[in-house]
Amino acid sequence: MNIKNEQTTRQEDFSASTSYSTSNSSSSSESQSGSASGGDILHRRYLRMAFIWSENSYCQRRQVGALIVKDKMIISDGYNGTPSGFENVCEEGNVTKPYVLHAEANAITKIARSGNNSDGATLYVTDSPCIECAKLIIQAGIHTVVFSRSYRLTDGIDLLRRAGIEVIQIEENPNNEK
Ligand SMILES: [Zn+2]
Repeated sequence: MNIKNEQTTRQEDFSASTSYSTSNSSSSSESQSGSASGGDILHRRYLRMAFIWSENSYCQRRQVGALIVKDKMIISDGYNGTPSGFENVCEEGNVTKPYVLHAEANAITKIARSGNNSDGATLYVTDSPCIECAKLIIQAGIHTVVFSRSYRLTDGIDLLRRAGIEVIQIEENPNNEK
């Protein structure tokens, strides 16, 4: 697997020995070399859980899963699908229906109905966020985004970086992980 730590101005510490802090400590940049650290293990585990969660999606074209983690707790989850009360069918012909919600949007809006908030949280998502979701991620106060699969468009990722959000890509085949 290949780990790219793309943007480190707002780094959250996931290492096992220290408590997760939501303060805006601008710690020094993590190594860009791709070497694994203790924090990467948790990133990978949550990302694998996002892949498992994507199996809930009834969408045919692509199944996407997302988790939002704050203070080492999963505070929300989502997968791509139609809004509550709609039929569980994402595609018409082979085209995704315009009202299908992306996994990130489902996870973020789920928090709006809960007693939690996503300020300072980390989003784990199986696929690179699109620009619409990137806007929601920024406004939700999420500090870190960890994703696996690239998308041909990078405008979402570019926007996240412009907003100072740490973006980490962990390319891995979740089926190969223990
Ligand atoms: Zn999206």
